[in-house]
Amino acid sequence: MSDARAVPMVDLKAQYQRIQADVDAALARILETTQFIKGEDCGLFEQEFAAFCGVSRACGVANGTDALTLALKAYGIGPGNEVVTVANTFIATGEAILLNGARPVFVDVDEQTFTMDATRVEKALTARTRLILPVHLYGHPADMGAIGDIAQRHGLPVLEDAAQAHGAELQGRRTGGLGHAACFSFYPGKNLGAFGDAGAVASNDGAFIARVRQVANHGGGANKYDNVVPGTNSRLDTIQAAVLRVKLRHLDRWNQERRERAAAYTAALGGVPNVTLPKEREGARSAWHLYTVRVPDRDGLQAHLKARGIATAVHYPRPIHLQPAMAAAGGRPGDLPVSERLSREVLCLPLYPELPLADVERIAAEVRAFCGAGAARA
Ligand SMILES: *Cc1c(COP(=O)(O)O)cnc(C)c1O
Repeated sequence: MSDARAVPMVDLKAQYQRIQADVDAALARILETTQFIKGEDCGLFEQEFAAFCGVSRACGVANGTDALTLALKAYGIGPGNEVVTVANTFIATGEAILLNGARPVFVDVDEQTFTMDATRVEKALTARTRLILPVHLYGHPADMGAIGDIAQRHGLPVLEDAAQAHGAELQGRRTGGLGHAACFSFYPGKNLGAFGDAGAVASNDGAFIARVRQVANHGGGANKYDNVVPGTNSRLDTIQAAVLRVKLRHLDRWNQERRERAAAYTAALGGVPNVTLPKEREGARSAWHLYTVRVPDRDGLQAHLKARGIATAVHYPRPIHLQPAMAAAGGRPGDLPVSERLSREVLCLPLYPELPLADVERIAAEVRAFCGAGAARA
């Protein structure tokens, strides 16, 4: 047991080694040209990433949080407005709303996919609602058909938080094209990760992407020192764009490798008492950013795995309506029973394209042993 290899949550070094020659060549090219800002890789990555998502336009920005914050700004969302979103997400989803002076209105999530419960959205709408912001948590697309129908009836745009869901699909269409626009993060551990911080906004609405680009670059106009609206500096660096271009070529295969590992967990953990496994909704294809199980004794299982060298993570231990940072939104314990229960029961197991299948088997055997299903079947 003690000499078993330690298993991390992600292995960025293993990923780098698979593409090292191409990445090193791309970096050398940028160092040679010294076009660190607005180099040609920036525009090329935007085109290639938009094509990957099946949309016409994308704008690179400095990180996923800025993608959300600047997209909301480009919609003109500000004080007095409300945005309907979920609370079992990374804090950035709520921050982007608050930082624009608007109020997040949190709705609960569906038990099976952990994403926005579309049946609760309509009740959350008020005369102040300006936008609906679902999150494709763990890589699983939210119920965009039902959410889109509600949005259309009320004349509201839907913005996807697709930070965990590059390449996920619903009815054959990819995230990025499932709402009016989508925000992506290229944080290193995401399915598509930069060598630092990076993000993007994607949409079929060219005028909207132009507004995002404007606020991401000091509210710029036609000439360099035209500053038309208050903006900020949130550009995608050329070095990050060059790395992302190399990685994007591999993303479909990497997502497939994640899917195979997720399937191996599901096969090995089926029927284990007290363990609820992640499932895809009919018509949905997850990007499998995380493989997240539900167990009543989550902390016990996490300690059991840690003692055996197996890393795990809790995404997320506190739904964001209960974070002090979101106090202005007025959330209270008991508001969102499903989200609150999930925060006590979810555990993310290691899942990345390079994860050896033998490690999946070993991790599953340890989960079975802890949860009382006896030792490994093999
Ligand atoms: C990672 C993440 C973000 C923020 O992205 P950064 O690039 O880290 O700023 C936003 N929303 C969700 C759901 C995320 O997972």
